[in-house]
Amino acid sequence: WKHAPLHFPAVLEASRGHGAKDFVVYEDERLSYEDHYRRAATLARRLAEEYGVAKGDRVAIAMRNLPEWVIAFSAALAAGAVTVPLNAWWTAPELEYGLADSGAKVLIADGERAARLHGSDIAARLIVARADGWDLPPGARLFDEVLGEVAADARPPAVEVGPEDPATIFYTSGTTGRPKGALGSHRNLGQAPMSVAYALARTRARAGADPYGGMGGPRVTLLTVPLFHATGCFAALIPTMFSGGTLVLMHKWDPERALQLIEREKVTAMTGVPTNAWQLLSHPSLDKYDISSLGGVGYGGAPAPPKLLERLNTRLPSRTASNGYGMTETTALAIINSGPDYVAKPDSIGLPVAVCDVKICGPGGEELPPGEVGELCLRGPNVIMGYWNRPAETAETFIDGWVHTGDLARVDEEGFVYVVDRAKDMVIRGGENVYCAEVEAALYEHPAVEEAAVIGVPHEELGEEVGAVVRLAPGASADPDELRAFLRERLAYFKVPTRFWFRDGELPRNPAGKLIKTRLRQEVLGA
Ligand code: ATP
Ligand code: MG
Repeated sequence: WKHAPLHFPAVLEASRGHGAKDFVVYEDERLSYEDHYRRAATLARRLAEEYGVAKGDRVAIAMRNLPEWVIAFSAALAAGAVTVPLNAWWTAPELEYGLADSGAKVLIADGERAARLHGSDIAARLIVARADGWDLPPGARLFDEVLGEVAADARPPAVEVGPEDPATIFYTSGTTGRPKGALGSHRNLGQAPMSVAYALARTRARAGADPYGGMGGPRVTLLTVPLFHATGCFAALIPTMFSGGTLVLMHKWDPERALQLIEREKVTAMTGVPTNAWQLLSHPSLDKYDISSLGGVGYGGAPAPPKLLERLNTRLPSRTASNGYGMTETTALAIINSGPDYVAKPDSIGLPVAVCDVKICGPGGEELPPGEVGELCLRGPNVIMGYWNRPAETAETFIDGWVHTGDLARVDEEGFVYVVDRAKDMVIRGGENVYCAEVEAALYEHPAVEEAAVIGVPHEELGEEVGAVVRLAPGASADPDELRAFLRERLAYFKVPTRFWFRDGELPRNPAGKLIKTRLRQEVLGA
C-alpha cells in the first residue's frame, strides 16, 4: 500500500511486527503475535481453498472467549469475508436465527456451541474448536484438522479489500427487542485503535501520569466481557492487536478469578461492564491479591452509578477510572469520561472520541442547545454502515450520517454528555418524565442498596407509576418507607418509587451487563 488504509489487513500486518510477544493469554496458554499471524493466515487460506469463502461471504463464529475466537475472526477477515460473531449464550434456535439472518457460509464454533446444532444445515460447513467431550453433529470438522500444517512463512490469500468494504456483523445486545445485525465496514474497524489511542492520550495528558502502561509499554488488558460484543472486540481486541499489548481472556466472568489473573499476569487495565468492576471491588478477597499493577479500571456499555466511582476511589485509591459510552452501531466506543474529568463529573459519560460528533435532537429532529434533554445523535467514521438486511430500521436510525441512539441525553457548556435514560426505559408518570437511570443512581447512594432497577408500573390514573426492584447488600436491611424517605431528600416527589420489590439474587442481566427489564417486569408484574 502507499499508506496504511483503515482496514483490517493493515491492522493485521501491523500486528506482525510485535513478533514473539504474548498477544492473547488464556488459562495456561499463550498465543504470540507471530503464532496468531501464521494461524490466521493459514486458516484464511483453508477457508478460501476448502470452503470456497470469497470476498463478502459471511463467516460466523460461535464461541466463548478463546484464542480460537481471535484466530477465526482474523482469518475470516483476512480471507475478505464478513465476520459474524454470534452470541455464545444463544440457544439452538437463536444460533439458527443468527446463521440464517446473516446467511453464513461457514461456522467456526467451540464444542459446546457445535453440540447445539444437530440437524442444522450448517453441520457440513462447521469447524469445531475445543471439541473434546462434546457430541458433534455429523459432518463437522475439527479446527486443528482444518488448519493442518502451519508454515513459518504463512501469508493470507491475496484478496483486495478497501475501507468501504463490509467487515463485520455484530448483533446488538437485544435489550429493547430482537438483536439486530450491525454491519460495520473496514473503516469502522480501522478507526477503533485510533479512537482508543487518542482517548488514552487525553487521559494521560489530563492525569499527568500514565495509568495504563503506555502506548509502547507493556499494556496488559484483562477482558471481562465477551468478544462477541462490539466492546470486547473493538475497544479491547483490535486496539491491543494494533498496539502490541497483551489481552488476557476470561472464559466466563468470575471476580475472584479476575483478581488471580490480575496478580499473575500483572494486568495494567481492566475492560468490562460496570457490574464487573462493582463485583471486583466488593469481593471479600480483594485485599488478598497483589493487584498493584492495575493502573486503570474501564467500564461502559451500561449506566455506571456514581457510587461505583466512589467505591473504586475508596477500595482501590489512585486508580484511573473511565466510563465509556458506546453502542454496537458506533463500533463500540463513542464517548468517554476518565481520570480527573470523571472525578469532577461522575455522572457524565464525558466527551466524544476524536473522530465523533455529538448532537442532541428534539422530537422534530431539530438540534437542541446545551442543557436540554433530547435524543443523543452521533456521527463519524465509527458509525456503522447500517443494519444487515433491515432497510426500514436502517432508514429510521441512520439519518444523514447521524445515528439516532435511542438514548436521551444532554450536553453541558463544556461539551460533556450526560445520558439520562434510554428513551424506551423512561417512565411517564402523569405526564412527568421520570428517568429510571436517575432514580437508580439515587438508590445506589443508600448504603444498604447493592443493586437497583427502576421500572414503569401500569397505573389507571397516572398511566404509569414508578416501581423499584432492589437487592440489599448481604446483612443489610431497609424497608420501602426508609428508602422512600432517603430518596425524597434527593429527588422530586414524583420520581420517588411508590412500589418496591426486594429480591434475594442478582438482578437479571444479559451478557453485555445490561439489566433485562422486560424479564424483571415479568417477574414482578407478571406482564
Ligand atoms: P438493542 O439495541 O438490541 O436493544 P442494546 O442497545 O443494549 O440492545 P448495545 O449496542 O450493546 O445494545 O448497547 C448500546 C446501549 O447501551 C446504548 O444505546 C446505551 O443505552 C447503553 N450504554 C452504553 N454505554 C453506556 C454508558 N456508559 N452509560 C449509560 N448507558 C450506556
Ligand atoms: Mg441499541
